[in-house]
Amino acid sequence: MIDGALTLLTPGPAGTSKRVRDALLRGDLCHREPEFAELLERIRVTLPRCLHLGGTHETVLVTGSGTAAMEMALIGSVRRGRAALVVNNGVYGERLAQIARVHGITCHEVRNAWTRPVDPGAVRAALAEHDDIDAVACVHHETTTGLINPIEEIGAATASAGQALFVVDAISGTAIEEPDLARVSADVICGTANKGLHGVPGVSFVLLGARAVERVGEVPSRSLYLDAATHLASQRRGEVAFTPAVQACYALDAAIAEYEEAGGFAARTRLYRERAALVRGQFDRLGLPILVGEPFRSNSVTMLRLPRGVLYRALHDELKRRGYVVYAGQGHLSGEYFRICTMGEIPWHRLEELERSLADALAAVTR
Ligand SMILES: *Cc1c(COP(=O)(O)O)cnc(C)c1O
Repeated sequence: MIDGALTLLTPGPAGTSKRVRDALLRGDLCHREPEFAELLERIRVTLPRCLHLGGTHETVLVTGSGTAAMEMALIGSVRRGRAALVVNNGVYGERLAQIARVHGITCHEVRNAWTRPVDPGAVRAALAEHDDIDAVACVHHETTTGLINPIEEIGAATASAGQALFVVDAISGTAIEEPDLARVSADVICGTANKGLHGVPGVSFVLLGARAVERVGEVPSRSLYLDAATHLASQRRGEVAFTPAVQACYALDAAIAEYEEAGGFAARTRLYRERAALVRGQFDRLGLPILVGEPFRSNSVTMLRLPRGVLYRALHDELKRRGYVVYAGQGHLSGEYFRICTMGEIPWHRLEELERSLADALAAVTR
């Protein structure tokens, strides 16, 4: 974040460092040249490595937002005539189910309230009930509410049931939220360059374990642009199937380097825990209750109840006048709740100063 500019307290796009923004200006580069093949190869190696998946998962880089990675992952995991089991307790779980429906894939669902993690026992029961499931798909960090789902346990339940792949939308959890993905038996992991990795929006990725590499080769193509097998084959040769967002790849490369140099997952999760403690102390003092219960809360998204009579738009505008951009609630919670996120590059002093600005903004809207 540039000092003096707006501080984004949003769940993406997330603020970026000067080094990442400067990487965008490295100059024009044709993706058919060896320099791009080098860049692609470096990202394909460092990305899983920095997420502790270097020995187990292979990268497919996707030009498109996180939803493109979700779509590529899900449609590449389910064979014709087979089904997906979607874990749905928020907007992004619902999006996974929508992707299945759009592509005519049979979709079973395990649901829970938006404020509750999904019960791994319910996933186990659904796997026992349906014998057509090729993929269990689950969101790691439900950005809707700032809730962490038990992906370690759901992954274990899926693995013990046999042939279903475990597909994780880790888009808003990658690099910043527990559990460490190395502990999760996930066959397919979706992530994005922005959000916790602090790159710029425009590229996302799918990480494939060995079983998933095999599966995407078996599944008949459901999309020309988002076919995992096509992209995997060309990226293994150092090529890309279609024109990539070259500058966003430069930025991602810089963001990964910055992440690893700063101490990787351990250091960044510590930073995010410290940020959460700081701002949640402020919310507590200002009397703003948090929607999601303590044990399931993420460290990067906080869903807060609006004080009685306060309209989100008015509060948003008062905060923006003071240099902070906050985020609305989604779905049926949007009237009563809003989100303050501590994702991306944010100068520490801007988080310290948030309390004063939030207090002033609340006073202005309740006058
Ligand atoms: C941001 C996000 C996505 C992707 O959304 P896009 O708008 O396509 O970038 C997917 N899943 C989760 C959990 C997210 O937070």
